[in-house]
Amino acid sequence: MILPILQYGDPILRAQGKPIEEIDDRIRELAANMIETMHAAHGVGLAAQQIGEALQLTVLDISAVEDRPSTLKSDGKDADPNSAMPLVLINPEIELHGETEVGVEGCLSFPEITGDIERAHCVMVRAQNLEGITIQIGAGGFLARAIQHEHDHLNGILFIDRMRSAAKAALSSRLRRLQKETKRGISRREALVSETTL
Ligand code: ZN
Repeated sequence: MILPILQYGDPILRAQGKPIEEIDDRIRELAANMIETMHAAHGVGLAAQQIGEALQLTVLDISAVEDRPSTLKSDGKDADPNSAMPLVLINPEIELHGETEVGVEGCLSFPEITGDIERAHCVMVRAQNLEGITIQIGAGGFLARAIQHEHDHLNGILFIDRMRSAAKAALSSRLRRLQKETKRGISRREALVSETTL
């Protein structure tokens, strides 16, 4: 099922995700819906906050990206990053490694807005998968960037927080407009709910 993606201005995007204690059918269904939603929106990652659930759960799929290389190490061995996609990370912990580099990012919660963001070139990730098994992977390049972006979402951090102040200032009127539209949408929804419950 394709879920609506929340946009900038929705307070859930700023919420810290709660750790997932039990990986049950609800979590498995949520992850499947998030993968479907991410694919439908042509995104490379989606965090639970973006569909209205403040949980430590994110999905990624970088297999359609051909112009920005990624590397993957699984169990200490080099692996084909595409073979691990779509990737579901539950309760992920990350460690940053290597040099930092600046690259362009977008976000499904910020339609048509992109910015240059500095990220570590490599990350080590410890997370659980949908089977509840703890996995440990090393990611480099674009996949490392995508994982850092999603890991930020799980902690209520958005990519605009990591933009240089001049770049963010240049976007300020567009961001304010988007925030206003989102808030208007939320109050319309709330009005509708109270009407139907009366
Ligand atoms: Zn995002």
